[in-house]
Amino acid sequence: MPNSVQPPTPSDSELADYDPDTCDAPDCENSLDDGEGYDGYCGSHADQRETSGAQSA
Ligand SMILES: [Zn+2]
Repeated sequence: MPNSVQPPTPSDSELADYDPDTCDAPDCENSLDDGEGYDGYCGSHADQRETSGAQSA
């Protein structure tokens, strides 16, 4: 069995519905290419998540 072929993980099929290069927020299609976002969110939504209590430093 070649190592180069890996079976899809459950999370992969879960993410298959939207473009991985855009923000995870349902109503947001901002590209992540600006480098401001993280965790699958654009800069604006990443900031919102951070300021809304999820401060895990
Ligand atoms: Zn966004």
